[in-house]
Amino acid sequence: MLYIDLHCHSRYSDGLMAPADLIRRAAANGARALALTDHDETGGLAEARAAAAELGVAFIPGVEISVTWRNHTLHIVALRFDPDNPALQRGLAAIRDGRVERAQRMAAELDRQGIEGSLAGAQAHVSNPRMIGRAHFARFLVERGHAKDVKSVFKKYLAEGKPGYVAHQWASLSDALEWVSASGGVAVIAHPGRLNVDDKTLCELFTEFKELGGSAIEVVTGSHMTQQYGQFAEYARRFGLAASVGSDFHGPLESMRDVGVLPELPAGCVPVWRDWTEVQTAGTSSPQSPPAG
Ligand code: AMP
Ligand code: MN
Ligand code: MN
Ligand code: MN
Repeated sequence: MLYIDLHCHSRYSDGLMAPADLIRRAAANGARALALTDHDETGGLAEARAAAAELGVAFIPGVEISVTWRNHTLHIVALRFDPDNPALQRGLAAIRDGRVERAQRMAAELDRQGIEGSLAGAQAHVSNPRMIGRAHFARFLVERGHAKDVKSVFKKYLAEGKPGYVAHQWASLSDALEWVSASGGVAVIAHPGRLNVDDKTLCELFTEFKELGGSAIEVVTGSHMTQQYGQFAEYARRFGLAASVGSDFHGPLESMRDVGVLPELPAGCVPVWRDWTEVQTAGTSSPQSPPAG
């Protein structure tokens, strides 16, 4: 197993746990290195970093940026950037503002389905007033008995093509990659296996991503089926991209994989953390061991 997790969510976006609790859970699972990657939001990084330092877990700043590429929503995980970078923060703030406007249109659609009060209902599940998403609507709809769990509510109402879904224009891929490089980070295509596109389109995406300075694709993720690990390892190899791993953990009952520990990358992958010294050295010195001398 790998005790590295470069994709998970806290209450600063649509996760269920506070950043410090998330880090404690990851550490208890054996994590050596962790990136918190809230959607379009870096507000939880300081708390996570402090908790990680206390527990001797290497901490990597992260964020999952919502992008529109052609007509598809694409998630770009940015890692190891400077969270104080103004260009990055301006970009993320604009995406979050778009989320507020989208939430109003989602609520209007749900109204037409006879489901009233969903905006206020979703807001009651929001813990960071700067960030609202479909997961908050999903939790409201489950609470009202419209489906048995979050997964089913997406299938019935919130997934693309369903009655509560509204199209939305996120950031462009080139803008997102510009913010990542301006802030000194690396860009990873999150869970490419969830993109509903053919092989030719995927190849065009990987080519364009690489040309724009992108570094890696997520190969092992809680959002891929096990059979997809090999498939995306092969894409990574073909396009000269590194490979990343992440649980995409949101909370104990809402996620495929727990936070902090993941299966190994398939043979031949170049890990995105290959040159990251803080990850290389993590776990070789225990925070519990007495100071030397
Ligand atoms: P948003 O960025 O607001 O459109 O919401 C995307 C988030 O919704 C994802 O990060 C997941 O947390 C959640 N989500 C999307 N699709 C599903 C699904 N089929 N089942 C459960 N959660 C989902
Ligand atoms: Mn999410
Ligand atoms: Mn995602
Ligand atoms: Mn995610």
